[in-house]
Amino acid sequence: MSVGAIDTWGRLDRRDRLAVTPRFRRDMLQSLPPRRPLIAHGLGRSYGDVATLEDGVHLRTEDLDRIMSFDPQTGVLRAEAGISLSAVLQLVVPHGWFLPTTPGSRFVTLGGAVANDVHGKNHHQAGTFGSHIRAIGLSRTNGKEYVLSPDHEAGLFAATVGGLGLTGLISWVEIQLVAVDSSFLDVETLAFENLEEFFEIAAASEEGFEHTVSWIDCLGKGERAGRGIFSRANWCTDKKYQAHDDRSVMLMPFEAPSFILNGVSVKAFNIAYRAAQMLKLGRHRTHYAPFFYPLDGIGSWNKLYGPKGFYQYQCVTPKEAGITPVRRMLGEIAAARQGSFLAVLKTFGSKVSPGLLSFPREGVTLALDFPNKGKRTLDLFERLDRIVAEVGGRLYPAKDARMPPALFRAGYPRIDEFLAYRDEGIDSDFARRIFT
Ligand SMILES: Cc1cc2nc3c(=O)[nH]c(=O)nc-3n(C[C@H](O)[C@H](O)[C@H](O)COP(=O)(O)OP(=O)(O)OC[C@H]3O[C@@H](n4cnc5c(N)ncnc54)[C@H](O)[C@@H]3O)c2cc1C
Repeated sequence: MSVGAIDTWGRLDRRDRLAVTPRFRRDMLQSLPPRRPLIAHGLGRSYGDVATLEDGVHLRTEDLDRIMSFDPQTGVLRAEAGISLSAVLQLVVPHGWFLPTTPGSRFVTLGGAVANDVHGKNHHQAGTFGSHIRAIGLSRTNGKEYVLSPDHEAGLFAATVGGLGLTGLISWVEIQLVAVDSSFLDVETLAFENLEEFFEIAAASEEGFEHTVSWIDCLGKGERAGRGIFSRANWCTDKKYQAHDDRSVMLMPFEAPSFILNGVSVKAFNIAYRAAQMLKLGRHRTHYAPFFYPLDGIGSWNKLYGPKGFYQYQCVTPKEAGITPVRRMLGEIAAARQGSFLAVLKTFGSKVSPGLLSFPREGVTLALDFPNKGKRTLDLFERLDRIVAEVGGRLYPAKDARMPPALFRAGYPRIDEFLAYRDEGIDSDFARRIFT
């Protein structure tokens, strides 16, 4: 067992924590001290506290990263839960396969992708990661081992997908990959001037484009409110398969001082970003790495937010609520002058997520980073929470470090069903904050 720094991605709560890093699956439970609660910890890409536990043991999965089987004919892959999506892609892309869906970072483990039932730019067609799982190997702290699938131990499967690591230790995952005709995408970039235009373009793109996402200027007021850039893409068909290379990832060697992230610099960034994107309007061919993982090129960009860290606020509001909640939230953010560099807006499709606590549901999701400015930031979140709650929306636990328990309960009506499947030897700071 070791003691060392285990940071959350938002770096709001930085301290030394107890950790074990087993080398083999069979050692996962053997390596633990008795009667001490534990939490699995993947690559720590969750922004808040789902993968930390104040007085518990962090079971780091980074060495449980073996491929157990891969069939290049069928695209079925089984691997240990600690393998990164990056390593999976390096293996499968040259054979013409890709992940069925991917979050905006490839430095995420298979176990983490399952436990947060992550989503990607193709949610409107593919649904969440959990929809593509064939089987999960799960070890409970009482020593019981399970093989879960949508048809076998279906209740525990539904609790484990999106279950925030609280139903047991995921030891391996088997997924169905998707065949692609290239490792490049044909991307079309369009500008929109307001939210009405965003919703029109999103609706018009859902059928014909596998991947859609947009960036929105969250500081724009008046005529500029809700303007942004929409990207939509399909895979090319040139049969050229080139996996990405992680050797070019740069590391931020130092923390940025807090004063760099003031309203003026964020506004300047948003204007510069929009200007750069406007130059790219139209169609272009791009490799999957910059398209799906634009931030992965700088290894620890989270240090840009300085020593106080940052929050991400990601919500989904139901389709039937339409444009109004998004307009109101953007109004609050612009008025508070606290917007961030990275405001992302995307529609979720109607495919039902398989997890009892999965975040995605049909509607529109807004995700923004906020430098931690203490009470000012938390007060703004309260105003945003009210808008989300009024329309029956929900916040994403993978990004959260502060949502009130009542908002979680209201947004996740299957919570009591989920709690029946919890593993009593596992806990997290998130679970303590929300469930007790
Ligand atoms: C730049 C960036 C972009 C992102 N974009 C998206 C996006 O587009 N869509 C999206 O959905 N998410 C996105 N995320 C969030 C990220 O995909 C999730 O937080 C993901 O779960 C992180 O995986 P991880 O391996 O780092 O797990 P951690 O953050 O370490 O842990 C996440 C959860 O998984 C549990 N867990 C991990 N391994 C196991 C295991 N073996 N057994 C049981 N439980 C386990 C942990 O206990 C914890 O509850 C993004 C994050 C970043 C930093």
